[in-house]
Amino acid sequence: MSAAAPLAPSAVEAAIADLKVLLGERCSTTQADREHHGRDESPHPLCPPDAVAYALSTDEVSAIVRICRRHGVPLIAFGAGTSLEGHTSALRGGVTVDLSRMNAVLSVRPEDLDVTVQCGVTRQQLNTHLRDTGLFFPVDPGAHATLGGMAATRASGTNAVRYGTMRENVLSLTVVLADGRVLKTANRARKSSAGYDLTRLFVGSEGTLGIITEVTLRLYGIPEAVSASICAFPDIEAAVDTAIACIQSGVPVARVELLDTLAMTAFNRWSKSDHPETPTLFFEFHGTPAGVAEQAAMVREIADGFGGSAFRFAEGAEARNRLWEARHNFHYAIQAMRPGASAYGTDTCVPISRLAECIRGVFEDTRNAPFPVSALGHVGDGNFHMTFLVDPANPEEVRLAEAYNERLVRHAIALGGTCTGEHGVGFGKSKFLREEHGDVALDVMRLLKQALDPEGILNPGKILPEG
Ligand SMILES: Cc1cc2nc3c(=O)[nH]c(=O)nc-3n(C[C@H](O)[C@H](O)[C@H](O)COP(=O)(O)OP(=O)(O)OC[C@H]3O[C@@H](n4cnc5c(N)ncnc54)[C@H](O)[C@@H]3O)c2cc1C
Repeated sequence: MSAAAPLAPSAVEAAIADLKVLLGERCSTTQADREHHGRDESPHPLCPPDAVAYALSTDEVSAIVRICRRHGVPLIAFGAGTSLEGHTSALRGGVTVDLSRMNAVLSVRPEDLDVTVQCGVTRQQLNTHLRDTGLFFPVDPGAHATLGGMAATRASGTNAVRYGTMRENVLSLTVVLADGRVLKTANRARKSSAGYDLTRLFVGSEGTLGIITEVTLRLYGIPEAVSASICAFPDIEAAVDTAIACIQSGVPVARVELLDTLAMTAFNRWSKSDHPETPTLFFEFHGTPAGVAEQAAMVREIADGFGGSAFRFAEGAEARNRLWEARHNFHYAIQAMRPGASAYGTDTCVPISRLAECIRGVFEDTRNAPFPVSALGHVGDGNFHMTFLVDPANPEEVRLAEAYNERLVRHAIALGGTCTGEHGVGFGKSKFLREEHGDVALDVMRLLKQALDPEGILNPGKILPEG
């Protein structure tokens, strides 16, 4: 089957019949199941699969892949469905393999600071499981995502500035290939020079090269001391310049998050708090008690130089957890600022020295926007999200949000950045890949796809632009 060939109804029916023999009731064709799996959390339109197969083991995933391949039917991996670029849409129909029931923590090795999990374990489940070990896993996207989905999208979150993204934290993967064979990408050694880096090839491949069934991850000791603080600024430039200066001065902040004025209003309403409603940075510091105090003092001095005020500490674990939980719920807080609106989100990331310029550009471009516009960012990494609160029933607003995003992406790429710092490509961002990477890199990506999935059955229509 070529990637764009229409799917014969008889092929789908035959695949579903075989899947029912393999899985019984765990192969579902109900409308509710199909619709639930036919979209992610983005405003991209619904594209349901023909069936949903719930897998319980690597062997079962392998059997499902073999059936789909035999009948030339597309196969879309599904973790928690929290992605944001139409990643899980069944653009050409086919079968979605739901991996959320593969949710066992297989082996924790505190002595090596690593863990192996099945792909459907969520990051929250893993950290609950680790609670009594003194260890934690730091990568924290703002949704209840699975670790397989996080590996597949090369996810990150608020802790990446200190602990890295999934790229740095995955040691090894078990992957079912498009022909059903099972690949282990690496052993658990912290470093290895043995051959091509297959682990990193599959991290970020969005289910287009193989289906990840097990993930081995790095763990970290829970820091002896943690402190969080909030600092308000007179304008967004001062907040961004402070974040840049902190990174350039080498202060090892664990988190530094920017919220603009509208974001702070949304945050206050959502969390029933009373922070100043001006551009604000949230910081977190990890280390020894003395180290944490020293980092906070250095940051405060830098912030003072840019007019920062109201440097408040969130004292105690409870206050800190409340603060970050509210930050993680920002998506819902900002949506509540315009009832009925859809949050159209951007995800550019630029080298830190170009961050202020990039943010200034998008605010100038959107100053006459007919809908609320808000900025929030993992600014320590140069990554920020604009949220455009558009009325989904108003095509002009949707078109305008897309146009703002396109200009922002072009600006970020021109500054040496990327169209997506953490959400991934799905089909929403595939149109930017050629501009970002160039013809040769795109050719190499296509060769890799062709080599690993010659029939084009794995999540067709994603990442690589058509044509
Ligand atoms: C409110 C909100 C906040 C968010 N905040 C962040 C953030 O801060 N940082 C961030 O990085 N992301 C963020 N996201 C995006 C999303 O949570 C991440 O992309 C996450 O990694 C997706 O995981 P998932 O389990 O939901 O995957 P899914 O959405 O189910 O799938 C994502 C992609 O990976 C593929 N896939 C899933 N599982 C596997 C597997 N086992 N093997 C192979 N392919 C697979 C799918 O086919 C699809 O292409 C946010 C999303 C929301 C809704």
